[in-house]
Amino acid sequence: MTLQEAGFFLLNKLRTVYDEGEASAIGDWVMESLTGSDKTERMIYKNNPITPEEEEQLHGYAAKLLKHTPVQYVLNESWFCGLKFYVDENVLIPRPETEELVEWVISNCRFPIDTLSILDIGTGSGCIPISLKRRLRKAKVTALDISDGALTVAQRNAAKLGAEVEFIQLDILDPAQWAILKTADIIISNPPYIPENNKASMHPNVLEFEPHNALFVPDQDTLLFYKAIIALAKTKLTLEGLLFFEIHENLGKEVTELLSAAGFMSEIKKDMQGKDRMVMGRKSLEG
Ligand code: GLN
Repeated sequence: MTLQEAGFFLLNKLRTVYDEGEASAIGDWVMESLTGSDKTERMIYKNNPITPEEEEQLHGYAAKLLKHTPVQYVLNESWFCGLKFYVDENVLIPRPETEELVEWVISNCRFPIDTLSILDIGTGSGCIPISLKRRLRKAKVTALDISDGALTVAQRNAAKLGAEVEFIQLDILDPAQWAILKTADIIISNPPYIPENNKASMHPNVLEFEPHNALFVPDQDTLLFYKAIIALAKTKLTLEGLLFFEIHENLGKEVTELLSAAGFMSEIKKDMQGKDRMVMGRKSLEG
């Protein structure tokens, strides 16, 4: 099988589950990862044969992709803030909206660098704390998750990407476990925020593969993580500190109300698609 034949084989399979644009983007990503050659190189050498090992791997990838497995899980890689993260089914695939949250944190970071401390809650793949640590090299960065599997992935990413982050296994919904945490200048979280009743309208890609404990919250208490993290911030955020959340597009008002009830001032920011997606809170000094 030549490079070109391999590309067509994959594209034809992908077209049965994805629209044309997605099929071609995913096809390119897979072919590049498989062969180590980018599109131009694959075009120039289109008549070169792929190796029998590559051919076998290609069939394996195609079979998984046909079952709607997200390409990031098939290849065990996902790009975030210009860095390549390892991902598997233990962690949520990092989203572009979350990159915007990281940028917002950095643009608001005016703390003295020698004492700057950052806490990420529900770290998943570790994409947030690792990206922050790579940009703010002197910061002390701590990240929490309840899931063993997620922490293993996050630790692997921190090692691979040369970012020193302290990882702690902790259930943020259990205040008895908060005692071990130190104060932080920046607390950040992209917690689970999708109401369970949204499941029906979601793509099988997400629903059947991504970890439900990272995505969903009970319909009758969609804000439970925000409530817990705001309560934590009352004692663990420094006086001048900043709290950053990613939010469900419909929950901006509710989250800012929670913050003001707890004595925080807040601000909502829209994502690139114009949807309410991020909230920043700070302790109201008058309050
Ligand atoms: N913090 C990780 C991310 O932003 C995981 C979030 C989650 O699992 N809810 O991708």
